[in-house]
Amino acid sequence: MEEVREENAAHQPTPIVEGAEPSDWSQEDEMMTDDPPPSTETLTSDPEDIKDEVTPSFQSMQLEPTGKEKEIAAPEKVEELDEKEEDKKRHLNVVFIGHVDAGKSTTGGQILFLSGQVDDRTIQKYEKEAKDKSRESWYMAYIMDTNEEERIKGKTVEVGRAHFETETTRFTILDAPGHKSYVPNMISGASQADIGVLVISARKGEFETGYERGGQTREHVQLAKTLGVSKLLVVVNKMDDPTVMWSKQRFDEIESKMTPFLKISSYNVKKDVQFLPISGLFGSNMKTRMDKSVCDWWNGPCLFEALDAIEVPPRDPNGPLRMPIIDKFKDMGTVVMGKIESGTICEGDSLFVMPNKVSVKVLGIYADENKVRRAAPGENVRVKLSGVEEEDILAGFVLSSVVKPIAGFSEFDAQLQILELLDNAIFTAGYKAILHIHAVVEECEIVELLQEIDPKTRKPKRKKVLFVKNGAVVVCRIQVNNLICVENFTDFPQLGRFTLRSEGKTVAVGKVTGLPPNGNPDF
Ligand code: GDP
Repeated sequence: MEEVREENAAHQPTPIVEGAEPSDWSQEDEMMTDDPPPSTETLTSDPEDIKDEVTPSFQSMQLEPTGKEKEIAAPEKVEELDEKEEDKKRHLNVVFIGHVDAGKSTTGGQILFLSGQVDDRTIQKYEKEAKDKSRESWYMAYIMDTNEEERIKGKTVEVGRAHFETETTRFTILDAPGHKSYVPNMISGASQADIGVLVISARKGEFETGYERGGQTREHVQLAKTLGVSKLLVVVNKMDDPTVMWSKQRFDEIESKMTPFLKISSYNVKKDVQFLPISGLFGSNMKTRMDKSVCDWWNGPCLFEALDAIEVPPRDPNGPLRMPIIDKFKDMGTVVMGKIESGTICEGDSLFVMPNKVSVKVLGIYADENKVRRAAPGENVRVKLSGVEEEDILAGFVLSSVVKPIAGFSEFDAQLQILELLDNAIFTAGYKAILHIHAVVEECEIVELLQEIDPKTRKPKRKKVLFVKNGAVVVCRIQVNNLICVENFTDFPQLGRFTLRSEGKTVAVGKVTGLPPNGNPDF
């Protein structure tokens, strides 16, 4: 590992000629506010297509086993579970975002209850526990907030995970906590999510607090977009509250105030965003449509229908494997956890753990609680590996194909949008921050500002840029101490979007626009 890092440190940045392209490894020149390229933003995802493409190779593996496959053949039980994995349902990851106390945990808990994941007895137990702690209205949130410490505080500290199914889709809920200091967890949740449920409290004063500067609503939306959450359901929650009483006027007010902001954050509001009134606490307009005697003006879908109808970009099951590792543990071998962003993992596969290029073999794959033989893009999985020790893996390493491995870099070019610098500081070469990109968290330094981009015309400014301020869009070169695996945003948006944070605040969002041609010098 050290050797690789040292070799890479010798990589010299390409000299910048004034007036020329910012760098000859720069690949694109898009505005930060642009949507990702059409190929990744196509909305005609048909899970059947994906399935059809993958199935033949899987079937042929089953029908014509070679000696090697026999060796890894799993017991009967696994095949049965595989059948289930092969069912028609697509799989999506949802992250709940929004200001603290907006009702994320309550809504998440209610979803689990309504979809049959939690039985009445458990609910009664939680209800009693909540009552004993004088927090009656919190009992639904108890389902999501899984540990005692969280219950006592009434806040979700970690990204809690849960699963539920609707008619067409299997969902993994990544519950994002709303409290300010937990934003780094929200980032790790959002970096794996396909869709976001933005929970807004309609209660008088609460929408306003969450939405104003310092509230988390704006920050979460911007982070979600940057981190690749392409679709948002905005649930206007607590519609039952006495200050709201299912008022259409209040719902419309929130929608009209939120819409311009969502547009600035690059969401195509017509195509990618849907507003819905709900009560997470009472489960209204969630599994079944609104009861007209309670609210006669809402004729739109309920939450489950809206979740079912969401279309997300297809992922490529035949692309090179990319699975950023978010966590690891020992369990009779080394187990890594993460979401497959591209490609397919099969039991018995030989892979690399990058950037260190450690050869590993896949001993077992677990999706939800089931053992499966293979897992496609979009799946959150645990993969048991041989050939690597748990302590040699760090969060942010990437399980990668051998034929087309992801490279490691200590330097790259990126286009940044500066959101809010601390104390109105200036942003210049030498600026240091914490880089969050997929599962990587790494200190970084801006080594050079290459080009400023006019936010209005979206064209590069001609003048050489030495510093910028809040609101600027700038292309710059970023350096990190350790090799990290990143991709150009245009090739793999999920591995090419990032945030820069400093002292607990997000100062900029960005995307990778240029990588040194050789990357990890091993390749
Ligand atoms: P989180 O911080 O966003 O996860 O919010 P919680 O789910 O913990 O909810 C915060 C508070 O709002 C709790 O007291 C909930 O009982 C309450 N709450 C959540 N959803 C609703 C709702 O639909 N209606 C009402 N009246 N209260 C709600």
